[in-house]
Amino acid sequence: MTPEELRARLEFYQDLGFKDVYRRAPRAPEIAIETAPATTAPPPEMKIIPADIQLPSLVPEGDTLERIRADIGDCTRCRLCKGRNKIVFGVGDPEARLVFVGEGPGADEDEQGIPFVGRAGQLLTQMIENTSAKEGIPLKRENVYICNVVKCRPPENRTPEPDEMEICGQYLFRQLSAIKPKAICALGSTSAKALLGGKDGVTKLRGKWHKWRDIPLMVTYHPSYLLRPYNQNAKRESWEDLKKVLHFVYD
Ligand code: URA
Repeated sequence: MTPEELRARLEFYQDLGFKDVYRRAPRAPEIAIETAPATTAPPPEMKIIPADIQLPSLVPEGDTLERIRADIGDCTRCRLCKGRNKIVFGVGDPEARLVFVGEGPGADEDEQGIPFVGRAGQLLTQMIENTSAKEGIPLKRENVYICNVVKCRPPENRTPEPDEMEICGQYLFRQLSAIKPKAICALGSTSAKALLGGKDGVTKLRGKWHKWRDIPLMVTYHPSYLLRPYNQNAKRESWEDLKKVLHFVYD
């Protein structure tokens, strides 16, 4: 494992909420990393990596969306490549002050290579544009940036697997670091889990400010959830969440 890969792995576990990372003391040349929750005492045969260890930067110097897209290339790093038509990288202003992060492309997105263009996407666009208009904020969909945790469509629109999220999550983290928005809005539980770690669902997380690294992050319901007729209350709550985000970012 190269130092870059090691750092990426460590930061990924940190983002998943692990506070301590251990490695076995004398072992094979390949470094074995194990993770443990903060409250677990390190087993005696393991050594803590010093907190001030000098690791190279995860984000390449001067990283840009173009460079990240080029690094993804014609990706075959996980099984999702097998069923995809197009890689759905992201769309919008590369200097956006607000980024929305969904779960993964659906059929329409896979066909067009653009995130949130199907029914859920149309609802998201309406929510962004109608809420901002109502609040007196001049904002269009193209002024924000929209992307997903995984860039290829999971078969039958299933939830992405943890390893798929880990592999593709590195590119999402680079996108967010390159854009440096004032706030992030995580849409649904997959996005919340990828960005905050932990096991809490949207109902618990929504409506409050969290942080991804130093960037304020709001969790709200995924637009697909809001399309179901019995979730009308969630629609109102999503609208409240979005209003909070819009005023924080654009006031
Ligand atoms: N759902 C998502 O999470 N992302 C899309 O791009 C479309 C639907």
